[in-house]
Amino acid sequence: MAVINVALAGRAYDVVIEAGLLARLATAAARFLASYAGGRAVPLVADENTHRLYAASVEASLASHSLTADWFVVTPGEDAKSWAVLEELTDWLLALGVTRSDHVFALGGGVVGDLVGFACAITKRGCGFVQIPTTLLAQVDSSVGGKTAINTKAGKNLIGAFHQPSLVLIDPLVLGTLPEREMRAGYAEVLKYGLLGDAAFFDWLEANGNKVLAREPAALEHAIATSIAMKAAIVAEDERETQDRRALLNLGHTFGHALEAETGFSQALLHGEAVALGMVLAARYSARRGEISAADAERATAAIAAAELPAALPALGLTCDGARLVEHMRHDKKAEATTLPFLLLKAIGEAYVARDVDLADIAAFLDEELAAR
Ligand code: ADP
Ligand code: ZN
Repeated sequence: MAVINVALAGRAYDVVIEAGLLARLATAAARFLASYAGGRAVPLVADENTHRLYAASVEASLASHSLTADWFVVTPGEDAKSWAVLEELTDWLLALGVTRSDHVFALGGGVVGDLVGFACAITKRGCGFVQIPTTLLAQVDSSVGGKTAINTKAGKNLIGAFHQPSLVLIDPLVLGTLPEREMRAGYAEVLKYGLLGDAAFFDWLEANGNKVLAREPAALEHAIATSIAMKAAIVAEDERETQDRRALLNLGHTFGHALEAETGFSQALLHGEAVALGMVLAARYSARRGEISAADAERATAAIAAAELPAALPALGLTCDGARLVEHMRHDKKAEATTLPFLLLKAIGEAYVARDVDLADIAAFLDEELAAR
């Protein structure tokens, strides 16, 4: 078992990582269930998959503490992060009589966590919530740090709030039912932590990544705990991404966002897959600038390829050019922008924010990459 504290003044909270935690939910979250002791049902949100797989276990644990569950179940997929579902969910919470001192429980991947977090940020001007992330991506990344959001016509995650959970409960055993492709996509964010700030962890992943992907409990717990410890430290230093510190967590995400946009944010390319290729591009561009060594850029690429994640641009079969991908990066920024901050690598384990990157040079680089191999 590992417990990592996210040290935010006045709003510090624990992330608990332990196999079997879900089945012990009522004990693990006892403090945040106390307000339901009077007989009101505990509000839980899941998607159809996590509800089908894990509701019985959650209900059994609650029942052992004389608590009952009331579920709000959404359709799996990004469409749940919408105004329409947010309205239904907040209406449901209000109808239940949720108060500011109550906690709502989010059982699912990043979609459920983002939706519930935002609903709780605005319900009664902020009620509590507990994250129980069930995808590797949500366990190592989105469940910690307080970024919550829904999607709108203008783009993903543009309407949201910073609202920290009161507790995050991570049970690596629930990854046993996660589809293989989702597992690998989440693993891209694990590799991200090694690449951005911890060369020793990257070494460990090179040697043990196959055990993580095979969901061996000890390896999985180590990978999750190391990832979360880094995220917690970064969030504690820069909660609202006002300095470069929290921006480091976006390694691979600017290139990745362009790839997701070009593929229509569809199942053709999952977020983690886009980040994986985005990290390859960030490493290769950094090598082209003479920063990270070519050998280390190749190591980063090899680790991503070894996880069977996309590691070369031609693999996506895109028909666009580099300039079009750069247009996607400019999205939301001034259309005439000629530069954007980029997360680049000086070495494995050492990312930094480069502010001198010329977008025309990025387009030329992407054209080279699209034509390569
Ligand atoms: P992410 O966490 O990557 O943002 P989602 O919340 O969209 O992803 O979840 C990805 C998919 O995995 C969804 O179809 C969801 O229902 C499913 N899922 C989530 N957790 C589990 C699990 N532990 N076992 C099986 N399927 C799961
Ligand atoms: Zn990400």
